[in-house]
Amino acid sequence: MDRIIRATAGDGMIKMAVLDARGMVQRAREIHGCSPTATAALGRTLCGASLLGEALKEEDASLTIRVNGGGPLGSVVAVSDSSGFVRGYVDNPRVDLPLRSDRKLDVGGAVGRDGLLTVSRDLGLKEPYISSTELRSGEIAEDLTAWLLESEQVPSACSLGVLVDTDTSVKAAGGFLVQLMPGADESLIGTLEDNIFLMDQLTTVLDEDGPEEVFRQVLRGLEYHIVAEVPVGYRCPCSAGRIKQALSVLDVKDLEEMADSENSTEVRCQFCAAEYIFTPADLREILISKTEKGPAE
Ligand code: ZN
Repeated sequence: MDRIIRATAGDGMIKMAVLDARGMVQRAREIHGCSPTATAALGRTLCGASLLGEALKEEDASLTIRVNGGGPLGSVVAVSDSSGFVRGYVDNPRVDLPLRSDRKLDVGGAVGRDGLLTVSRDLGLKEPYISSTELRSGEIAEDLTAWLLESEQVPSACSLGVLVDTDTSVKAAGGFLVQLMPGADESLIGTLEDNIFLMDQLTTVLDEDGPEEVFRQVLRGLEYHIVAEVPVGYRCPCSAGRIKQALSVLDVKDLEEMADSENSTEVRCQFCAAEYIFTPADLREILISKTEKGPAE
């Protein structure tokens, strides 16, 4: 089952979270019909969103990561709620690229490196907090680490991985995030860097030994304590009511056109592919409530 486990180490100077996310990435692949490269790109972005979203303290908050690198996949978008449950999509899920010379999926090539990684946090206030960083490699984890340092001033190490099986299903997926508290000793940084450099490939560890082994390898030589474990997964909160809300912001002219048609209008949720049908009568109802409220500002 997908979960996030949190631990502290180095007398509270290090905070670490490990995500085991095979289920959520497999679900994303099935919903969108992703190629292996798209599965990895979207999967890594979902994993990053889940790790950051679960750390939000506000209950109804959400966090969105949007990656626009100009590559053939188009935009990659992942949204997490404050429990670490995610949803997402990629513009061109069927795009695939040949493997790189090291036999790895070419996520950076498919995402592109010419653009921005943008993180938007909606904390229930009037405006969301939005900040961006220029893409480094399009490989997602490196770009997210750069965002954490530039926008949040938090020195971090982040690894995100998706292992796609030969039958194109997801064999393993997940990530970890290690953050240093202000005032952390230089020697702690050195220990972490050495451990991360020497560790086995993340998805192999998750696949063969589970998330607990990730802590053992990254925090080798340090005393650590597990402080929390929570379930996460792929979840879309869409509903007929929410889609109706979204339709009601369309132009009156467009709504009138749909309401005058003989056919019902089908709206497909971009995150989970659920289909919602609106009859001409439904659309007229939306129009009436819209015109009663008066024109939008
Ligand atoms: Zn949905």
